[in-house]
Amino acid sequence: MATPVLLLLHDPSRSTGFTAADPALPVASALDLGITRGDGIFETITVIDGIPQALDAHLTRLERSAALLELPAPHLAAWREAVFAAIDAHDDAPESFIKLLYSRGIEGTDEPTGWVYMQPSGDFSAERTEGIAVVLLDRGYHSTIAETSPWLLQGAKTLSYAINRAAAREAHRRGADDVIFVSTDGYLLEGPTATVVLKLDDRFVTPDTHLGILPGTTQESIFEIAVVNGYRTAYEKLTPADLLRADAAWLVSSVRNAAPIRSVDGVPRSIDAELTESINSGLASRTS
Ligand code: PLP
Repeated sequence: MATPVLLLLHDPSRSTGFTAADPALPVASALDLGITRGDGIFETITVIDGIPQALDAHLTRLERSAALLELPAPHLAAWREAVFAAIDAHDDAPESFIKLLYSRGIEGTDEPTGWVYMQPSGDFSAERTEGIAVVLLDRGYHSTIAETSPWLLQGAKTLSYAINRAAAREAHRRGADDVIFVSTDGYLLEGPTATVVLKLDDRFVTPDTHLGILPGTTQESIFEIAVVNGYRTAYEKLTPADLLRADAAWLVSSVRNAAPIRSVDGVPRSIDAELTESINSGLASRTS
């Protein structure tokens, strides 16, 4: 088992430079707002054969989340250097992941903190081939939330994932593996840690990102793969009826990649094993 790697950034919004630390030892301050309030942001990047996948898209999204939380803009060169240093320091593993964590820092200091860690990924082969059972859960928000209530930070990748984890527990209680959130006005949104992608005839379609959801880097890569293979792509308002009628449906995310949806609220739906396999091999062979 490869040893996890931890790097602490010296000044994540202003300069490059980091220090290696022992991930087994406590290093974060008990006063860090990322810990005491979940006031910060993160990214999870999959690393396949030493290549951080969609790194530019993840760094752009880190910057976007920071802007939404009014955090100082992250110094992207510092984060990029830390990512490659973590990869250099990490033992070889076929699939690993790197987390970038950026918090508002210790209360009263106005100095954000940042750290990066890398460790091997779990084995997601069963989810990728046999598929996942999902339940639809009401998110309690209208689809216009991002415009009407930007302070709710929908669409930012914040450290406050307690709700997302509670939703996953609810799915498990209902005998399912994962969740798709639905807006109060009936539109498909996203999973707690994944984007919804449907294949409707010759089109790959994902929920419109204006609905207060995170723009997915994996979905973006899948759309690029789909276009190369002659499909059309679209961002639209989608409903549970679209999910049931779709030729194929997936929850897609960094690390697990494309997991085909084999049932919705206990109702079976077909999976396209061949197409899923070609999407996942397309994702695994990205060179940047
Ligand atoms: N939506 C949410 C809420 C997420 O947390 C994630 C990833 O963690 C995604 C979508 C998928 O994003 P990506 O494909 O960039 O991993």
